Amino acid sequence: MKLVHTVAELREEVAIAKSQGLSIGLVPTMGALHEGHASLIKAANQENDFVVVSVFVNPTQFGPNEDLDAYPRTLEADCKLAEKMGANVVFAPSPAEMYPSVDATWVEVTGDVTKVLCGRTRPIHFRGVTTVVTKLFNLAQPDRAYFGQKDAQQVEVLKRMVKDLFFNLQLRIMPIVREADGLAKSSRNTYLSAEEHTAALILSRSLQAAKEQYATGERDAAKICAAVTASIKSEPMANIDYVEIYGLPELTPVTNPMVGSNLLAVAVKFGTTRLIDNVVLEDK
Ligand code: AMP
Repeated sequence: MKLVHTVAELREEVAIAKSQGLSIGLVPTMGALHEGHASLIKAANQENDFVVVSVFVNPTQFGPNEDLDAYPRTLEADCKLAEKMGANVVFAPSPAEMYPSVDATWVEVTGDVTKVLCGRTRPIHFRGVTTVVTKLFNLAQPDRAYFGQKDAQQVEVLKRMVKDLFFNLQLRIMPIVREADGLAKSSRNTYLSAEEHTAALILSRSLQAAKEQYATGERDAAKICAAVTASIKSEPMANIDYVEIYGLPELTPVTNPMVGSNLLAVAVKFGTTRLIDNVVLEDK
């Protein structure tokens, strides 16, 4: 496996792979890789001849008071895991390499899909995501790009972008990987104290209970959200940002009764750490 840091080096690796007729899988990450990321790299390895993993803490998707500086950076361990899961290249550029001029060109998906849920408290977040993912798509020229359902809103935003900008690639969305105790794996879990980690288990428990409520026939979104909110509030360390349901695809307003496929998404702070989690509510 090769570790490269510059656009020129990545372009060269991609050109060689293309000249050999290899299919390319891209796994964009911010590093501090865990089993969630590993599942994406593994899938990319199974479905493509050549796998590029990017490790880049993208500054443009962080708000002014967010955790850009504190975000864990563990490139050496990331390379080991990426290699073990079958990556051919790790691309770890500097911010200056990805944003060579102060004035940037933005790729921005408009509409509710970027405005609701995380878009409300993180107004520039998705613009940063779509811009950096566009740059990565242009550099790696993947046949398939791998993302996690953990970031369900990001998935809906990227689907819109790929469709609207006619990107010639397939988005592959992988299920949420959880700790044995149910907590969704996240690079930000390392911020949690042992006490906060235990408290955060309320998220997966509450979402699981909502899934069961739905399975027994509940179709009133307000009732499901109220039950999840009450359940999360029973944990004194939890500070709710949102508990909401939107229609899929594209996060449309939920109907009453709920029909089709809907996303129940939560964002909750434990201490200073903001965690997100979700389940899809749909008939089997
Ligand atoms: P990040 O490094 O947090 O930007 O995540 C990079 C990619 O890994 C994104 O597509 C995430 O959705 C995905 N990912 C992060 N955590 C998980 C998880 N627990 N299960 C599955 N995919 C994940």
